[in-house]
Amino acid sequence: MTAKIIDGRTLSKRVRQEYRDRIQVLAVQGLRPGLAVVLVGEDPASRVYVGNKTKACEEIGIESTMIWLPETITEEQLIAEIQMLNHDDAVDGILVQLPLPKHINNRRVLETISKEKDVDGFHLYNVGSLVVGKTIFPPCTPYGVTLLLESEGINVSGLNVVIVGASNIVGKPMALMMMQQGATVSVCHALTRDLAQYTIIADVLIVAAGVPGLITAPMIKRGCVVIDVGINKLADGSLTGDVDFAGVRQKASHITPVPGGVGPMTVTMLLKNTISSAERRAAQRLAIPA
Ligand code: NAD
Repeated sequence: MTAKIIDGRTLSKRVRQEYRDRIQVLAVQGLRPGLAVVLVGEDPASRVYVGNKTKACEEIGIESTMIWLPETITEEQLIAEIQMLNHDDAVDGILVQLPLPKHINNRRVLETISKEKDVDGFHLYNVGSLVVGKTIFPPCTPYGVTLLLESEGINVSGLNVVIVGASNIVGKPMALMMMQQGATVSVCHALTRDLAQYTIIADVLIVAAGVPGLITAPMIKRGCVVIDVGINKLADGSLTGDVDFAGVRQKASHITPVPGGVGPMTVTMLLKNTISSAERRAAQRLAIPA
């Protein structure tokens, strides 16, 4: 068996075309979705991520504003910037690129973002709402994984879904989303003893550990669907996932490549959340009598 490659780039391209149509509908009502991206400091990787996001916005007609603040900014100053964006009617989505400098309290900053503009889905309100299946903004990376599975007609209801990685931004929300879809979910992490005893039972294996080559062919069941969220930079500058792609591909039914799998979908879901936010704003405007 050679696994079918789930191509995140092609799917992204297709859905982004649909989003352009939604933006056209908003344009008729005189609205253009707006995303504000806040970057603190000079971290080169963060600059690349932010650049990718703002470029993707521009390509489909979302107004993106990049707010670049110095590493030395105080927590109070950063919070004041976010409060201004909360009150700015041209802004439908606010994204604060993580990590923030060490002297700044991440949680406090994320809680300052209006829950109606929290397009990354990291505000506690959205995190909590996810538990009961009612979040305003599903977090982008796990949301993208659900779309990749859907696009292949993979219904996880009743399946064993094993997630390797339990972070707040990927593993934990992913587990909640899979549970809501009726999967039986196991979540593994760095302290899990004998990882393979879990991965081997997976019908769908989602890996987000940040460890290159962590998952090898003997660890998976034949016919398993493998989603590799990991992005690791090798010494030669190339990117690789957490899965031994060449080996696992011989045994899995479907597999996502790195790059070109989950990554493009993460950015696409950010666009989707921003457009949804603008649509809600448009609906509220219509609901208010002139
Ligand atoms: P993180 O460091 O916050 O969390 C990693 C998780 O993996 C932790 O729960 C840890 O316990 C677990 N883990 C680490 N080593 C393990 C091991 N040997 N066995 C089992 N579990 C182990 O990372 P994160 O932010 O969740 O990101 C995970 C990976 O996904 C990284 O490579 C990151 O670059 C990538 N990522 C990709 C996207 C995307 O758009 N494709 C988005 C976010 C993160």
